[in-house]
Amino acid sequence: MKTYLQVVRDLLRVYPDGEARALARWLFEERFGFSTADLLLDKDNHLSADDRANLQEITSRLCSGEPIQYILGHTHFGGRRFCVGPGVLIPRPETAELVGHIVRAVSEMPGGGSGNGLSVLDIGTGSGCIALSLALDIPGAEVTAWDISPEALAVARRNGALYPEAKATFSRADILSPPATGQCWDIIVSNPPYVRQCEARDMERNVLEHEPHTALFVPDDDPLLFYRAVAGFARSHLTAGGWLWFEINQYLSSETARLIEDFGFRDVQIREDGFGLPRFVQGRMAD
Ligand code: GLN
Repeated sequence: MKTYLQVVRDLLRVYPDGEARALARWLFEERFGFSTADLLLDKDNHLSADDRANLQEITSRLCSGEPIQYILGHTHFGGRRFCVGPGVLIPRPETAELVGHIVRAVSEMPGGGSGNGLSVLDIGTGSGCIALSLALDIPGAEVTAWDISPEALAVARRNGALYPEAKATFSRADILSPPATGQCWDIIVSNPPYVRQCEARDMERNVLEHEPHTALFVPDDDPLLFYRAVAGFARSHLTAGGWLWFEINQYLSSETARLIEDFGFRDVQIREDGFGLPRFVQGRMAD
């Protein structure tokens, strides 16, 4: 375990113990396919000089705060692999919980289980992780996904190519001046930017210095601007009884729920994430 332990030792200069070990294990697993058992068998002691040099370079990038997902060029979301890169938000585990809630809600629909013909719109798709997971997990669903960022769309389309069985199309759109369309969707979902500038001081350096601020931040004096825009659009573009689903800022859950009610949505519910924080809001259009 010599090389592995050297990497852990280097990472410990910057990261707390558990995180340093987790990062090193992740790196050896993803980069070289080494399991913990392989490390115990000292397989890492037989890496080529090129591999060792590469490892050193990656370790110094990790020490400078670059997220491991950007370095490796991919991450895992809901059990699937997705490409990521600078310019696109790294999918979070909470967001995979949102996908799970939606899939479950669809399967519990009358006549349930099959999403045949079900149409979904994902606003601010980023890497496309929500859009593609829904397209794959709701059989027959057809997903439209929008983002304002051409960089994000390029990554989302690359992910689409990884899952050709998913019926998902990606296009450029700005929800603050949405495209004129007569189309209606059965589900509209969004994980828009929701972190207030005043919360930046509590954020990790690797998020603040590397992830796209346009995907994260909203002004302190109007933190719900994207929720207002999405809910306003959804009011005229959801089918009767259609669902609106959001990931939300945990500090603004009641304000967000109230906003959605003010737009006329019913059955508005706040849901907690796995950390016990109010993280999702759902609402329905009148039948
Ligand atoms: N949950 C993300 C974070 O805390 C923010 C995601 C978002 O703004 N939509 O970094």
